[in-house]
Amino acid sequence: MFFTPIKYDEPVFRPPAEARSAIVQVTFGCSWNQCAFCEMYTSKKFRVKNIEDVKKDIIKLASIYRGVKKVFLADGNAFVLSAKNITPVLNQINEQFGKIQRISSYALPKDILSKSDQELKEIRTLGLKLLYIGIETGDDELLKLIHKG
Ligand code: SF4
Repeated sequence: MFFTPIKYDEPVFRPPAEARSAIVQVTFGCSWNQCAFCEMYTSKKFRVKNIEDVKKDIIKLASIYRGVKKVFLADGNAFVLSAKNITPVLNQINEQFGKIQRISSYALPKDILSKSDQELKEIRTLGLKLLYIGIETGDDELLKLIHKG
């Protein structure tokens, strides 16, 4: 049990490398949620959190986790947010946390492909520099079998 100034919609997952990161929940669940081997978000119906509520969460987190160097955007594939929607979140993180080393999130390949090169460059400039992508396999037959999409 740990103290947190905000209420998370559980369960929340993060990569091991984000153990010391502040976690900002911008989506609930995974927009795909169909991989045959994955139970992570089966208890949640995917939805995007209200951006104004996310911005309030960031203020609370930054007031408690002073000096934190990394921020992880949850849930499953937070990078599904459009560039237009993710930009105010990144701006708020930079404004509230100050000198941040990096922001990261889970992503599906289509979340990246849906953004233009220019949008991706701008997102990176705002600090979102690391995306975790579960490739699982390069074998087409197996991808179909596990319904990876
Ligand atoms: S994309 Fe990732 S989180 Fe979503 S169902 Fe597949 S393995 Fe699970």
